Amino acid sequence: MRAIVAERAGGPEVLELREAPVPEPAAGQLLVETAATGVNFIETYQRSGAYRVSFPFTPGAEASGRVVAVGEGVEGFAVGELITTAEARATYAERFAVRAERAVHVPDGIAADTAAALPLQGLTAHYLAVSAAQPQPGDTVLVHAGAGGVGLLLTQLLVRRGVRVVTTASTPEKRELSRGAGADEVIDYGGFAERVRELTGGEGVAVVYDGVGRQTFDGSLQALRVRGELVLFGAASGPVPPFDLQRLNAGGSLSVTRPSMGHFLRTPEERAGRYRELFEAIADGGLDVRIGARFPLAEAAEAHTALESRATTGKVILEP
Ligand code: NDP
Repeated sequence: MRAIVAERAGGPEVLELREAPVPEPAAGQLLVETAATGVNFIETYQRSGAYRVSFPFTPGAEASGRVVAVGEGVEGFAVGELITTAEARATYAERFAVRAERAVHVPDGIAADTAAALPLQGLTAHYLAVSAAQPQPGDTVLVHAGAGGVGLLLTQLLVRRGVRVVTTASTPEKRELSRGAGADEVIDYGGFAERVRELTGGEGVAVVYDGVGRQTFDGSLQALRVRGELVLFGAASGPVPPFDLQRLNAGGSLSVTRPSMGHFLRTPEERAGRYRELFEAIADGGLDVRIGARFPLAEAAEAHTALESRATTGKVILEP
């Protein structure tokens, strides 16, 4: 089969298309023929060396596809079924193996590309909206990068729960998309903390969801109301340097959390419940999964370049 392999950490150019052996499904695993692969920001951190991985490295945690073999002891899955996952390894490939409990069946009516686009950013948006913080109906929150993959989904899930959402986005096209997802106000990054205060009668927001990191962190703290929560969930602009905890006191008994998806999929029931609510929201028209860019598998490097240069909206997928 063909797979993307990086021999070393580096720029997007280290992602090369190679012949690679088809993985064997171990006990408890499914072997899946990839229909589409979701590209996520974390793979750029792994490729660049910001997150440590062992090389040679085939990126990818998310993909959909048809089961082509089941390992010993697997129950509940059969050859030919369409599944998706956010928790596999090496999905930048024509086939991948995944532990059965980390895969879910794709409901009828959801296409294979949407099924690849949803899980990682969808599960993330879900746990951010309902678990990492719990904004209440009527609260105002700020979501950075509102036209991004997580941003569009998170905005829709929050608006569905009666939360007022303000977002940041860097271009007119992105601002328009974010408004379409239900954002009440879409603002520039420049002076965003002051603008958020104006939009909340001087009070500040209950929660800031910040996946941008270094460039927004200070402003995000300044945009919070008394006892507000900063949910720092990513570092698209680089990691946040260490900071003085006393700033949380000065800002008004603020909280900061740095969550990660795996900690919000702790049990089969928790995983199944989040997937169920996402699939229901798609079925009832309350959640639109936007695929903003498609690349052939061979062009994984171009996909990374697009993501890192802020050229994308919604989801980026690879197609074998
Ligand atoms: P996005 O589609 O949101 O892409 C990143 C966006 O961030 C860009 O489009 C851009 O939007 C904005 N951005 C602002 N500054 C920069 C910069 N200097 N370089 C690049 N982008 C910048 O990506 P994802 O939805 O895949 O991920 C969003 C964030 O969520 C990432 O930080 C990712 O690591 C994190 N994440 C965290 C998870 C967790 O569980 N903790 C799980 C999944 C994702 P604009 O041009 O409008 O500013």
